[in-house]
Amino acid sequence: AEEMLIRSEKMSIAGQLAAGIAHEIRNPLTSLKGFVQLLQAGISSKEEYYKIMIDEIEKINTITSELLFISKPMTDEKNLENVKEMLQDVVTLLQTQANLYDIQLTLNVSDKLDIYCDRSQMKQVFINLIKNAIEEMTNGGTIEIDVTHDDKWCVISIIDEGPGVPKHLLHKLKEPFFTTKKNGTGLGLMISNQIIDNHQGQLDIQSNPSKGSTFRIYLPNSSSY
Ligand code: ADP
Ligand code: MG
Repeated sequence: AEEMLIRSEKMSIAGQLAAGIAHEIRNPLTSLKGFVQLLQAGISSKEEYYKIMIDEIEKINTITSELLFISKPMTDEKNLENVKEMLQDVVTLLQTQANLYDIQLTLNVSDKLDIYCDRSQMKQVFINLIKNAIEEMTNGGTIEIDVTHDDKWCVISIIDEGPGVPKHLLHKLKEPFFTTKKNGTGLGLMISNQIIDNHQGQLDIQSNPSKGSTFRIYLPNSSSY
């Protein structure tokens, strides 16, 4: 068992992914097979089975589309992009979902700040992090998106009032397939971390179970290019 543990720690990201994919896809497939067998046996209450089967297919679908995103080559389409504009686009995109849970999205960022990045990848990071915050705040509240900068870094902070992450789980968040959600894939933070890494940045996570969590994205300030 100890050897397994050491091996799993050493396992490459690709290896972890492959193991995870196999597991994550096999579960819904096993369940689908079971339901097809029940239907084949002429069991009644078909409607209910169809609903579950569609959910399972949807799960496989979500996982595969997230994986397609990862497997896309990291095109280096980096340009100077306006931070406020990108964040505003993302806030607009997520506004409906936020309203649904009585969540206020507030954005504090100067008009002038630009960063050198791949626009669609960086927007994907913002979507992943803000969506996570929304998903934790089912009782409503405020999600603050603050942007600050110094000579070296542009820092984008996403501050939520959710339940936070227990200390002993913090290190697991960026691992592929770690999820605490019923329909989660556990890929969002891993992908985000990879994109930020690809931009010579860093993703810092702080959490206080009584106050909420803060996800900070550090990206090289454009003036340092
Ligand atoms: P998913 O959203 O599919 O679960 P992620 O990689 O985006 O996958 O997130 C992994 C896990 O990290 C989540 O299931 C949740 O447990 C935790 N997490 C992420 N963001 C937050 C947050 N803002 N507050 C509390 N927990 C979070
Ligand atoms: Mg997520």
